[in-house]
Amino acid sequence: MEVLEKKRQINYGEGINRDDFPILLETIRNHPVVYFDNAATTQKPKQVIDALVKYYEHDNANVHRAIHQLGERATAGFEKARNKVAEFINAHSDKEIIFTRGTTEAINLVATSWGRKFVESGDEIILSEMEHHSNLIPWQLLAKERGAHLRFIPFKEDGTIDYNEFIKLMNKNTKLIAITHMSNVFGTINPFKKIIRTAHDWGVPVLLDAAQSVPHLPVDVQQLDCDFLAFSGHKMLGPTGIGVLYAKTQLLENMDPYQGGGEMINTVWLEKATWNEIPHKFEAGTPNIAGAIGLAEAIDYLQDLTMETLTLYEQDITTYALEKMMALDGITIYGQAPERGGVVSFNLENVHPHDLAHFLDQHGIAVRAGHHCAQPIMRKLEIASTTRASFYFYNTYEEIDYFIDKLQEAAKFFAF
Ligand code: PMP
Repeated sequence: MEVLEKKRQINYGEGINRDDFPILLETIRNHPVVYFDNAATTQKPKQVIDALVKYYEHDNANVHRAIHQLGERATAGFEKARNKVAEFINAHSDKEIIFTRGTTEAINLVATSWGRKFVESGDEIILSEMEHHSNLIPWQLLAKERGAHLRFIPFKEDGTIDYNEFIKLMNKNTKLIAITHMSNVFGTINPFKKIIRTAHDWGVPVLLDAAQSVPHLPVDVQQLDCDFLAFSGHKMLGPTGIGVLYAKTQLLENMDPYQGGGEMINTVWLEKATWNEIPHKFEAGTPNIAGAIGLAEAIDYLQDLTMETLTLYEQDITTYALEKMMALDGITIYGQAPERGGVVSFNLENVHPHDLAHFLDQHGIAVRAGHHCAQPIMRKLEIASTTRASFYFYNTYEEIDYFIDKLQEAAKFFAF
């Protein structure tokens, strides 16, 4: 089989060191953990864990305001992290990188700061039907407040969005397009290049929800020419509570602050204030300093491995998994996009996803079951939930084989 041939060519050991991940040595119910819930969050290498400990043991202080050594070290680490993120996604300048709590907060920031200023009654925002709730609810809130309308690009049976329908939705009232770069349910990598080009022809900015793409694919914001891009550190080996909003300088300059407080101001009077420069204008209060430093370490780790190696390996392991899964009796796989990442949503006939996830957990396999924060997708597919296996570069072909065995056992166990 072609995939098995490739398996021999891409040696798992090459550049990928599973021993860096202490948690992967854990046993769950007497079995080494098989962690297939990477779309929810990834595991952390000891380099990232050590960076957090090192920061708290040696450099901890508040950033930007302190006139002492520790404050200088903390500030240097935090700003170096910003520079690392900028370089990783090829932003034009560090000023275009705003640290947030994650993708969710980054999108809320745009909906609040950009949306409240520029979206008016009768305006339209185009989303797709396959958005995570994080890229849906902030726009629902904004649309309600401003009297704007949401329009949705439909997805087709194979889990790809319909570009032709997107074209039909564009009109003079369109104010923004906000779509997922890679679906957390179907694994689809959306035709964002064409979408961005078309949007810009209309003078409309594009936000990419990159929560699932930045951790798995090389992403170059200048090449993409997207206007906003949001992602989370915890899905790419980094700590929880840290994420990024990238936005073009001009947009950030024209936006109002997101939250008020310390750090985001320049001069303050009792009745008024002026704002700090970007990106600080959008970072009120003490930021997640350790989180940013941990994220920078995660990026170092990914860059050492190279995103190209990671992508190639993940594509291969996903093809391997998909081929084996498709051969199983009674399985439905949701999403068959030609361009896809390592997220596989499926159902086994007559087995409830929660029962299946529980059964797999009995054998040390961590998968997710539910609506994956995408209830509109489930509604359109006329199902309540799916089971989802999602891979990262530290997963192995042997783990996939074991998972397939257990799926077969589950099918027999629940057969009636
Ligand atoms: N968008 C997508 C496509 C996601 O997969 C997720 C996380 N499941 C989010 C947004 C939200 O990310 P976070 O919870 O880290 O803010």
